[in-house]
Amino acid sequence: MTLLEMDDVRRTYRLRRSIFGHSEEVHAVNGVSLVLHRGRTLGLVGESGCGKSTAGRLAVGLEAPDAGQVRYDGVPMARAGTRPWKDLRARVQLVFQDPLGALDRRLTVATQIKEPLVIHGQGSPAEHERRMRVLLDAVGMRPDQAAQYPHELSGGQRQRVVLARALATNPDLLVCDEPVSALDVSIQAQVVNLLGDLQAEFGLAMLFISHDLKLVGCLADEVAVMYLGKIVEQGEPHKIYAQPAHPYTRALLAAVPDPARRGPRPVLTGEPPNPAARPSGCAFHPRCPIAVAICKTESPALLPGADGRVVACHLAHDGVRSSKAGPS
Ligand code: SF4
Repeated sequence: MTLLEMDDVRRTYRLRRSIFGHSEEVHAVNGVSLVLHRGRTLGLVGESGCGKSTAGRLAVGLEAPDAGQVRYDGVPMARAGTRPWKDLRARVQLVFQDPLGALDRRLTVATQIKEPLVIHGQGSPAEHERRMRVLLDAVGMRPDQAAQYPHELSGGQRQRVVLARALATNPDLLVCDEPVSALDVSIQAQVVNLLGDLQAEFGLAMLFISHDLKLVGCLADEVAVMYLGKIVEQGEPHKIYAQPAHPYTRALLAAVPDPARRGPRPVLTGEPPNPAARPSGCAFHPRCPIAVAICKTESPALLPGADGRVVACHLAHDGVRSSKAGPS
């Protein structure tokens, strides 16, 4: 059953570049369509600055789209700050990268886990206490840690507290934006496993945003790869990892250390281009090792392939290659 839909969503920022009032437009999200079903996980991956975090903020109504529509449970997303949006926030929770920044250093773990219940007026103080104990246990913390403050905990424990607090109101959807990238590598796997367990236990849907394609694959039922505000490939992780169809996806996967890999690695050259000066045609063409002439002039559409995935590349679809390929 569909929970969250983003339909051709666009978000543009106008950046002021000089004291003379010159400004430029940045198309942070440029026509993204996504569907997330109840109890499922959608991974959104790409380099820093590709628009994935903006897409996450649009998905929960923290930002309003300039065009397109975000629907939650079939209803258009309410504007941030309105009463319907505040009610919805109990059902949609966010987990960010920095757990210390997300927690209040002056409040105990117990107070912070109960806080959303107090804000949303759910239950009595005794029920808040019971729920806090259940959640503390669910995220693998000891009962005595309820009395501790954030600075007394490790990074992994703090993120566990953030997760417990996010689950307090029994949400339908968890939006996790780089939830483990600030943690030690040894702790990352624990928190990712915990997220998987919590999702199964609480029946959550999850939008998992990360730059790490492999990490996303550990959790996601479906993966969407973003480049400069657009989705360039989307499908089931095992298919994408076994045979990435888009050169950008191939490069992201190649960047993941793998001692078992044989042969040359496709190298992604150059920095991501300036989003305010989007390249013509396929935005990836200045970095693409297989670009052909048409790539500089025509933006490839996101088209379905034979195995159920969608790909935006002139050379990824059978029958298209021969007619469009030419020297770059
Ligand atoms: Fe590379 Fe062209 Fe495909 Fe873009 S459309 S990814 S430039 S081959």
